[in-house]
Amino acid sequence: MKKKERTAIVVGAGIAGVSICLALKKRNIQTILIDSESEPAKHASGNPIGVVYPFLTKHKTAESEFSLQAFMYFLSIWEDLGLESLVPHVDGIYFLLEKDESYDRYSHALRSHQILNHIAEESLEPVSGIRSLFFPKGKSLSPKDLTKQILILANPETKFNCQLTKWQQSENGKILCQTTDGELYCDYLFLSQGYQFAEDPNSKWLPLKKVRGQILQIPKQNQTNRHGILYGDYITAPIQGYQVLGASYDEFKLEEEPRPQESETLWKEMVQKLPTLVADWNLPNARLLPTRVSYRTQSQDRGPVLGKLPDISKIDLTIKYQNLLKKDGKQMKIPYFENVGILNGLGSRGLTHSLFAAEILVSSMFSEPDVVQERIFKSLKPDRFLLRMWKRDQLT
Ligand SMILES: Cc1cc2nc3c(=O)[nH]c(=O)nc-3n(C[C@H](O)[C@H](O)[C@H](O)COP(=O)(O)OP(=O)(O)OC[C@H]3O[C@@H](n4cnc5c(N)ncnc54)[C@H](O)[C@@H]3O)c2cc1C
Repeated sequence: MKKKERTAIVVGAGIAGVSICLALKKRNIQTILIDSESEPAKHASGNPIGVVYPFLTKHKTAESEFSLQAFMYFLSIWEDLGLESLVPHVDGIYFLLEKDESYDRYSHALRSHQILNHIAEESLEPVSGIRSLFFPKGKSLSPKDLTKQILILANPETKFNCQLTKWQQSENGKILCQTTDGELYCDYLFLSQGYQFAEDPNSKWLPLKKVRGQILQIPKQNQTNRHGILYGDYITAPIQGYQVLGASYDEFKLEEEPRPQESETLWKEMVQKLPTLVADWNLPNARLLPTRVSYRTQSQDRGPVLGKLPDISKIDLTIKYQNLLKKDGKQMKIPYFENVGILNGLGSRGLTHSLFAAEILVSSMFSEPDVVQERIFKSLKPDRFLLRMWKRDQLT
């Protein structure tokens, strides 16, 4: 008898959604990717250039271990799938360590995480002469092209101009998705809608916020940095005739219109940090340079959110029941939408983290052996927020 094929719908054709499609392709799951836009990477994943490198803490934490493993996973996929020749990029990221505290933090990080020189080493950034952490395989790359190439490799059926408006578990176990293009059924649903997560009533409770970011596109100069430089903000290496200077951060005012004043501030801060870099640059007023505004989705603890989606409508939130649980020293039991996964909250690091996050998500949904230690997975699951809210009596 022919084995029944499992089907999945992935919502959102940003870097998160296409990474999920790739993880599903590895498992031969028939997949439909839908997006309300007319093409992939129209929102956060659509910047012309971004940077890829891991986030490190002085001592090992779940956060830094995840980020380092995600970076290594990114590099393995990059090599295995030949992304090197498909995605415009330049290798090498310098992370400036001007202050003693940051030098102390990162030099310890190299030791505590046992990071080898070919991944990161202390070095002087050549343009400024400032001591730095150098990631030789870190990258300036085009997020839009990365997203598009991963999509081509994952090769799901795609439906653009198709918005998910509602979904529910139906009686036969399938998930019914209502879209602007009609009804679709699937065995598994993966949600990766970026900052538009709040339009979905089932994920609205998640403590995620929309954070505005503005970048500046600078035409390539004759004398310029060969590698990406991070100094709080970042200036990428030139790719296809441009460099990107980014990125501003505003969680309060979210308008889509570019802010000329913000461009000027980004520019002035770079001039202050890297005066030798810009000494011979011939540029018009920074206010006149092309800009792009987009939105990060950031979680309360700044970590990604991935895993099976809790079904909070099924939690007994009566004070009486909750008090009874606490009195007996019991943990709250979390009910789930069994075959619905979420990947969101990628904040400022979606390019580095998405592929690994998607692999962890998909393998956990199919109950495969753990990809990461339980401790790390727990720090990523949406459950962590529910448990925190529960402990603080914020649910009742
Ligand atoms: C200014 C700025 C600079 C950044 N720089 C870097 C960087 O240098 N390095 C780095 O690693 N990260 C960087 N990031 C972060 C990174 O871009 C994001 O983490 C990443 O792009 C998020 O991807 P995503 O797929 O979750 O979201 P998105 O790319 O926003 O994708 C979400 C998709 O879901 C679709 N969608 C939403 N709702 C629905 C629905 N109901 N039905 C159908 N489709 C729907 C949207 O149309 C969209 O295509 C930056 C972010 C910003 C804002």
